[in-house]
Amino acid sequence: MTKKQANANSSAQEASSSSKQSQSRSTADEPIANNPSLAIVDSASPSITRTTEQHPPSNSHPTEIESEPTHSHAVQRASAYSVAQEQLTRVANAMNLDDDMLEYLCVPRRELIVHFPVVMDDDTIRMFTGFRVHHNTALGPTKGGIRYHPDVSLDESRALAMWMTWKCALMNLPYGGAKGGVIVNPKELSEKELQAMTRRYTTEISLFIGPEIDIPAPDVGTDSKVMAWIMDTYSMNRGYSVPAVTTGKPLAVGGSAGREYATGLGITYVTRAMLRRRLGLNLEDTTVAIQGFGNVGSWTARAMHERGAKVVAVSDVSGAVYDERGLDPRHLKHYAEETGTVVGYPRADALTKEELLELKVDVLVPAALEGQITKENADKINARVIAEGANGPSTPEADRILEAKGVLIIPDILCNAGGVVVSYFEWVQDLQAFSWDESEIRHQMKRKLLENLDDVLAITVQTGQDLRTAAYTIAIQRIVDAVKYRGIYP
Ligand code: NAD
Repeated sequence: MTKKQANANSSAQEASSSSKQSQSRSTADEPIANNPSLAIVDSASPSITRTTEQHPPSNSHPTEIESEPTHSHAVQRASAYSVAQEQLTRVANAMNLDDDMLEYLCVPRRELIVHFPVVMDDDTIRMFTGFRVHHNTALGPTKGGIRYHPDVSLDESRALAMWMTWKCALMNLPYGGAKGGVIVNPKELSEKELQAMTRRYTTEISLFIGPEIDIPAPDVGTDSKVMAWIMDTYSMNRGYSVPAVTTGKPLAVGGSAGREYATGLGITYVTRAMLRRRLGLNLEDTTVAIQGFGNVGSWTARAMHERGAKVVAVSDVSGAVYDERGLDPRHLKHYAEETGTVVGYPRADALTKEELLELKVDVLVPAALEGQITKENADKINARVIAEGANGPSTPEADRILEAKGVLIIPDILCNAGGVVVSYFEWVQDLQAFSWDESEIRHQMKRKLLENLDDVLAITVQTGQDLRTAAYTIAIQRIVDAVKYRGIYP
């Protein structure tokens, strides 16, 4: 393999895009609050100047069915795939990775695009477009979420699949990365239409999924109910129940204890440990703002609140709310479930979504979509720490601005990995037809997250690298080792 050094050229990449697009069970670590559930037991190319032209085109045309009001930095969101490739390239250069290996890692292994009809409630037929991308299979079958959102695209699925590859490798899980979804606003569909669309999409991608091929999980716009429909559809086509085909299912159909809140609780464990170890701060002395109040954002708010942090602000797609004395995340979630949004919450002041990102807080948790913190708004961020709950919330240019400001970024592939770790536990339980109790799940998730956090911190101490580079280095090296042992077929 030849060895050439690539030069990073992130601005060219961003401009080229048009996408809118073991720790023991220490009791000192226990949650402090009255939480019946959570308190039980706490027991990148672009500069790939050398390879860009070989990549599949970044097919990421924005759809116009988005109902979200647009804002400058969101409108000019970088192509997520370009961002993912640039992140990879930067670390590959730092690792002195072979060109051939970089080219191999830069592209997904398989991509499927499906266009399919669904009979709507008024008997009309509506066509939908969906995707499923498998990025890398060196470590095992692929794993990753299914997203229902108007901005879903092939470009986005490629990026998210690549990030899943790094996350699974960093967590030492026997998986590669996948991602997929359907271009749709699920809130515009009736329950019947949503189920019909899910079942048809599942059938269309059924060649691509399976317990030994690719195991989907919930992501933006999907939940445990959708995972149950996918599992049932796949099982009906096989003629027997195959619970291990999805994770994030309801408990009644092979779901795992703890999966629903795993991502938020994991973000809290990782953030708490990082605050202590890098800044000497206790979580209970910090203020927190959270962008996004879906599965990840709402459970992060709750887990942090219950461990003493003051969650002063949260946002969703419609707006934000703020209370300097701290919000009650359970009460706020109840309100948001009743009304469909956090906006108008009577126990807090109104804020814009942009203002939330600019608050002077200790911890900012982006837990919405990728590409939210860019060169346009990074300079306005006033948080000391960014704990990446979302996948790919920050672009490489934003990273550089934030690093220059001294902001500590806890990278997504470490910070939000609790979800895929418990998804792995769910898959293992389903394959064995055996279930573990909730305290065991929490203990094992925490152990895995904190062990890998130790590994990342050790690299930063040895090399002086930032956390993202260190985390990527570990993940990429694990895949490179697997590829070298397996060899290139034939
Ligand atoms: P979700 O659909 O449950 O919630 C998304 C939330 O983001 C909603 O509250 C939505 O209103 C809000 N939102 C959308 N655009 C926004 C904007 N511009 N400003 C503020 N809020 C906005 O999705 P989720 O499952 O919570 O996923 C959120 C992120 O976390 C995604 O990046 C996803 O890939 C990532 N993630 C999810 C999991 C998981 O287990 N669900 C695991 C790891 C990472």
